[in-house]
Amino acid sequence: MQCSLLLEQLIEALRCLPGVGPKTAQRMAFQLLLRNRERGKHLAKTLLDAMQDIKHCQKCRTFSEHPLCKLCQTTARDSTLLCIVESPADIFAIEQMGNYRGFYFVLMGHLSPLDGIGPNEIGIPQLSLFLSDENLKEIIVATNPTVEGEATAHYLSELIKPYPIKVTRIRHGVPLGGELEYIDSGTLAHAFAGRDVI
Ligand code: ZN
Repeated sequence: MQCSLLLEQLIEALRCLPGVGPKTAQRMAFQLLLRNRERGKHLAKTLLDAMQDIKHCQKCRTFSEHPLCKLCQTTARDSTLLCIVESPADIFAIEQMGNYRGFYFVLMGHLSPLDGIGPNEIGIPQLSLFLSDENLKEIIVATNPTVEGEATAHYLSELIKPYPIKVTRIRHGVPLGGELEYIDSGTLAHAFAGRDVI
């Protein structure tokens, strides 16, 4: 029996974070209450604002609190290149690599018919807007090298075939089954440099 219901609720709420079990959640709650109340309040406010205001960019589907994300708003990038990724975390990984200057499209997952995730769920209708842009010369399909990621890449290459756009896939150095966000920048840069036409 705990002495505070609110404390119990805080610990339970913290457990929604990935990798946080009951002990860690308890430690986090005590730490915030004992030493970091101001930062705890700041965390609560930021969390609330983010949960309420962050939606999806209308163009590339990544997270954004504005109709268009910062990347889609910029004119200082290469509009002949589009990189298709599974998640916003992949954009972070590729931006960290530092040598890709094109735009992105985020599927927010991969095709998974058994789970009811089809073309509509991965934003194919929105992707069509990019496909009809005549500036676009190459699409780099950077879905994860997992079975689902490969199947999604195959679907995308078939979809894009009728358009005068080169479709490439990053290959070398990305470990099979590995996810882009966990790959170091050097390996990722190598994978980008060694992409194949599919
Ligand atoms: Zn965007």
